[in-house]
Amino acid sequence: MDTGFFVAWIEAAARAVAAGRERLTELDAAIGDADHGVNLDRGFTAVREALAADPPATPGRALTLTGTTLIRKVGGASGPLYGTVFRQMGAVLGSDAETTPDALADALAAAVAAVERLGGAREGDKTMIDALAPASRALSDAVRAGSAFEEALDAAVAAAQEGARAAIPLRARKGRASYLGERSAGHEDPGAASSVLIVTALRAAASC
Ligand code: ADP
Ligand code: MG
Ligand code: MG
Repeated sequence: MDTGFFVAWIEAAARAVAAGRERLTELDAAIGDADHGVNLDRGFTAVREALAADPPATPGRALTLTGTTLIRKVGGASGPLYGTVFRQMGAVLGSDAETTPDALADALAAAVAAVERLGGAREGDKTMIDALAPASRALSDAVRAGSAFEEALDAAVAAAQEGARAAIPLRARKGRASYLGERSAGHEDPGAASSVLIVTALRAAASC
C-alpha cells in the first residue's frame, strides 16, 4: 500500500466520525461528559486540513501528521490516545514509500501496545482497547495465515465490532466512565464505538 491508501483511510475515518458524531456524543453523554463525537470530529476535520496543506510523501508521514494533529486538536482522554495510535503506526512504518499487509499488522499491534502503555488500560476495562486489541490480533492472525488483505481486514472489522459489543455489559475501569462504577455497565463505550469506525474505514480504503 502506498501513501494514497493511508490518506484514503484517514479521509474515510474522518467522514465516518463526522457522520457518527451525534451517536458518539450520545454514547459519551450516558457514561462520560458528552463530548466524544465533538472532540473527534474537530480533530479529524483538522487532520483533513493538515493533509491538504502539507501533502505527505510517505505512509509514515501521513500517519504521523494525523497523530500529531489529533493530539493537538482533540483534547480529553481520547486525543492523546488516538494520537498515539497514528504516531506509533507512523513510527513503525518509517520512511518507506510503500508498505505490506504484514508491516501494517505489525504497526497496528505496536500502536495498541503504545496506547496500553500510555493509558494503562487492558482488554476488559471497557475502553477503545476492547475494540482495537481484538482487531489488531485478528489482522495479524489473518495476514500470517496468508489471507487476502481484504479478508484480513474483514476479520479485523468483525473483531472490533465484537469487542465493542462484548464490552457493553462490563464495568468501566479506566477513563471518565470508571467514575460511574457499576452504573457504566450496560452502555456501549464511546471510544470502542469510534475505534470500530476507524477500523471499518481501513477496510473501506482497501476497496478504493
Ligand atoms: P474525555 O473522557 O476526556 O471526555 P473522550 O470523551 O474524547 O475523552 O474519550 C472517551 C473515551 O476514551 C472512552 O470512551 C474510552 O474508550 C477512551 N479512554 C479513556 N481513558 C482511557 C484509557 N486510560 N485507555 C484507553 N482508552 C481510554
Ligand atoms: Mg468525553
Ligand atoms: Mg471531555
